[in-house]
Amino acid sequence: MNNVIYMDNNATTRVADEVVEAMLPYLSQRYGNPSSMHSFGGNVARDIARAREQVAALLGCHPEEIIFTSCGTESDNTAIKGTLTMVPEKRKIVTTRVEHPAVLATCRDLERHGYSVSEIGVDRQGRLDIDQIGFRIDDNTAMASVMWANNETGTVFPIERIAEIVKARGVVFHTDAVQAVGKIPLNLKDSPIDLLSLSGHKLHAPKGIGVLYVRRGTRIGTFMHGGHQESGRRGGTENVPGIIAMGKACELAMRYMDEENTRVKALRDRLEQGILSACSDCFVNGDVDNRLPNTTNISFEYIEGESILMMLNKFGVCASSGSACTSGSLEPSHVLRAMGVPFTAAHGSIRFSLSRYNTQEEVDFVIERIVPIINRLRELSPFTAKAAR
Ligand code: PLP
Repeated sequence: MNNVIYMDNNATTRVADEVVEAMLPYLSQRYGNPSSMHSFGGNVARDIARAREQVAALLGCHPEEIIFTSCGTESDNTAIKGTLTMVPEKRKIVTTRVEHPAVLATCRDLERHGYSVSEIGVDRQGRLDIDQIGFRIDDNTAMASVMWANNETGTVFPIERIAEIVKARGVVFHTDAVQAVGKIPLNLKDSPIDLLSLSGHKLHAPKGIGVLYVRRGTRIGTFMHGGHQESGRRGGTENVPGIIAMGKACELAMRYMDEENTRVKALRDRLEQGILSACSDCFVNGDVDNRLPNTTNISFEYIEGESILMMLNKFGVCASSGSACTSGSLEPSHVLRAMGVPFTAAHGSIRFSLSRYNTQEEVDFVIERIVPIINRLRELSPFTAKAAR
């Protein structure tokens, strides 16, 4: 496993050593239930409070605005369905075509239950037409949900401006910030954002812990009924090790934010430039001027992304493709399709997503290996660049 070159950090991240160290006692000695009356449990409740403060510090919000959940998907579901239950007379949701399935599939399920969903499209660079958001909101609209940063291309939306437009129309605004938190600075103090989702495993905490930020005064229905945990807003005995891990990961994210936006970004740029300058017929997908510092999504025309991934995998290189293998057929991703990326290029798209654990040696290794892979696959392809022209 040590030989793995891991460039798939938008899928999940390595748990930071400091995070493991922080959470371990809660799997062994400190197993008390935070709801217990005795101090053995009470001490754990105090540690959860500290973790809540660490998360709030990263987001620039109040600790009581933080609800711990099990993952980003639960946070998104809670934000959307919890809002709708508070305004049952309103039956419309405004969102975008490039959201993660945690939002899109939720909205499509609501459509089956009589809601109307308005999905705003993007341009060839993956940018939103901001004006469309205002146009689509009407008196029947309960909420708008727009992601902060796209998981596939890294495109960052001007979320504060979008939130302002939505709030000016008196509508609740949620953002899925699962890919943004920890990678770009954000500050919810005085922000128009009502609800925001994040996920631990995208920022070097383990899987199974998420957060929903709920701005003070925002009305949201209880999604998980049960005990009084999370101030009665989400029942269920707390995932204490996960919560402690989340707090520590947020503390570390603050510490490493500058590095993410300088060293990691420089590595990403080196990788991208190295590939683009050595391979023909390839281009970057997404808004290169407004992008997460760790992500590059590159389309290689006329070859299959899966073939590239398999060959990279032989060298221990982990990345992702822009296709999802569904029922035996390789469908290009909904994000690339929404952007209008040509079929021949959408099929050959690869996402590299870096982290603070990557090195320049790894980047150079990937560049060195991928160039002959691309050349070889093009030789084998019935749709080589030349043949297709
Ligand atoms: N939203 C975005 C943008 C994501 O990238 C992901 C995970 O890939 C999720 C939501 C879902 O998060 P989780 O895996 O914690 O459920």
